[in-house]
Amino acid sequence: MEHEMPIFLWKRAKLTPNRVAIQMGETALTFQELHEKALELAGKMTAAGMKKGQYIGILSPNSVEMIVMIHALKYVGAITVMLNTKLSPSEVSFQLEDARVSHLLTDSSLIDKAAQSAKGRTVTVHSFEELQRMPSASIVPIQTISLGDTDTIMYTSGTTGAPKGVKQTYGNHWWSAIGSSLNLGLREDDCWLIAVPLFHISGLSILMRSVIYGMKVILHEKFDATRMNQAIHEEGVTIVSVVTAMVSRLLQEENGAPYPASFRCMLVGGGPVPVTILEKCSSLSIPVYQTYGMTETSSQIVTLSPEDSLQKIGSAGKALFPSEVMIMSEADEQQHDNLPGEIVVKGPNVTSGYLNRPDATRDTIRDGWLHTGDIGYMDEEGFLYVLDRRSDLIISGGENIYPAEIENALVKHHAVVEAGVTGLEDETWGQVPVAFVVVNSDDVEEKDIIAHCLTHLAKYKVPKHVYFVQNLPRNASNKLLRRELLSLLD
Ligand code: ATP
Ligand code: MG
Repeated sequence: MEHEMPIFLWKRAKLTPNRVAIQMGETALTFQELHEKALELAGKMTAAGMKKGQYIGILSPNSVEMIVMIHALKYVGAITVMLNTKLSPSEVSFQLEDARVSHLLTDSSLIDKAAQSAKGRTVTVHSFEELQRMPSASIVPIQTISLGDTDTIMYTSGTTGAPKGVKQTYGNHWWSAIGSSLNLGLREDDCWLIAVPLFHISGLSILMRSVIYGMKVILHEKFDATRMNQAIHEEGVTIVSVVTAMVSRLLQEENGAPYPASFRCMLVGGGPVPVTILEKCSSLSIPVYQTYGMTETSSQIVTLSPEDSLQKIGSAGKALFPSEVMIMSEADEQQHDNLPGEIVVKGPNVTSGYLNRPDATRDTIRDGWLHTGDIGYMDEEGFLYVLDRRSDLIISGGENIYPAEIENALVKHHAVVEAGVTGLEDETWGQVPVAFVVVNSDDVEEKDIIAHCLTHLAKYKVPKHVYFVQNLPRNASNKLLRRELLSLLD
C-alpha cells in the first residue's frame, strides 16, 4: 500500500506558520497565510462546481495568485494540469482534450487565449478574479494524500513529437525534493529564487521544495538578469535555478563583482555549461551545479557538484540519492566505460507513466526503467555525459553523428547566433549533416562556415550544406525542433 501523508502545505503551516513562504515584489505570504488563502479558495472552487478527482487546468504567468490556486486545488482533491502560457490556443486545446479537463483557471491577462482554447469543448473557464468573487462554500478539505496519488499533470515540451501528459504523483514530488536536499543540503536561511515558469517542472519543483523544507521563495514573473543579480546581492537569495543560456546573461550584467558568500548554488539545467563560462563563474565565487532532468523525473535526477565541474567538463553529474541512471545498448544491455547508449532512469521521483497513453507508457517504461530517448555515456567514475536525443541522431556511412556537437561548433563562429543541424538523405552515405544558421552579418558565406567547422570537427561531421535562415523552428519551451528544419527548404 502507498504511504499516506498530510497535505504538504497543511503540515508546513502547522510546523512553521510564521515563516515567509513566498515573496513577490511588495507581496509576502507566510505559510499560515498561504494555507488560509488556499483553504478559503478551495471553498470557492467547490462553490464553482470543482470536485475531487477532476482534472483542472491552470494557465497563468508566475504570480502569487497562481500559487494559491495550485495549493487550493490540492485541498479540493483535484489533479492540476499545468499549461504552458506560450502555447497557441490549438495546442492548449489539444491538452485540455487529452487530459479531459473540466475547468480551466486563468489569469485575466490570458482570458482570451483560455476562451479560444476551450471553444467547442466541455470545459468551464474561470478567471482568477471571478473565482475570488465567488461566495465561499464550507467544505471538508482534503488533509491527507497517498504518495501514489496523481498531483499534477505536466506536458512534455513536444520536442521529439506531440507533447505527452506526464503523471506526477505526490510521491514523485516528495522524493524529488528529498533527493535534491540530500545533495544540496538545507540551511535555515535558504531562499530559492524562481524566475523560470511555474508551469514547467523547473519552477513547480521549487514550490514543492518550499513547502516540504519550510523555505522562502522569491518569485519573479520572468527571467531578468539585472533583477536576478540584484535579488542575489540584496535580497538574501541563496539558490537560483536557471537554464544554460541565462548564465552568460547573468555574467554580462554582473560587471565583475563576486556574488555574496551566502549565495550557495546556481542550478543549471538544459545542457552543459561551456568551460569559459564555468571559469568565469569560479572567479566570481558562483558555485555552479549542472543538472539533467525532464518532466518525467519531476525535475533534476542527475546533478554535478561544483567541486567536480572543472574536472568533468560537459558532464551532468551523478544520480541523486534516491535515483539510478544507466546506459543501455540497442540490445537492452548495460553499457559501461564511455560507451554511448540510451540513458535510462529509475527512482521514486520518476513518473509511473503518461496520462491516457498506455502505449507510450509501455514503450517508455520497461522493466521498471524509464527510457529517456536521450543518448549519453558514463565514464569510469560514474559521471553521466548527455550527447543528444536519440531521434535526432544522424547516421552517416555507419558513423553516429550528434547534431548538438555540430551546433556547438557552429555557434563558436563569431557571426553565428543560432544553429540547428539535421540529417539529409544521401545516396552514398545514407545521411549527411546539414546546418541551418541565423547570422548577424551579411558578409559571411557558406564556405566561411564550412572552413570554420573543418577546424573544429572531424570531416565526416562537417555540414555538407549551410543554409542561412531568419529563424529556427522552436516550441513553446523555446527548444529547437530539429524535425522541422528540413521544411525550411520547401
Ligand atoms: P518531448 O519529450 O515532448 O520531446 P522534451 O523532452 O523537450 O519534450 P522536457 O521534459 O521539457 O521535454 O525536456 C527534457 C529533455 O531536455 C531531456 O530529455 C533532454 O533531452 C533535455 N535536457 C535536460 N537537461 C539536459 C542536460 N543537462 N543536457 C542535455 N540535455 C538536457
Ligand atoms: Mg522528453
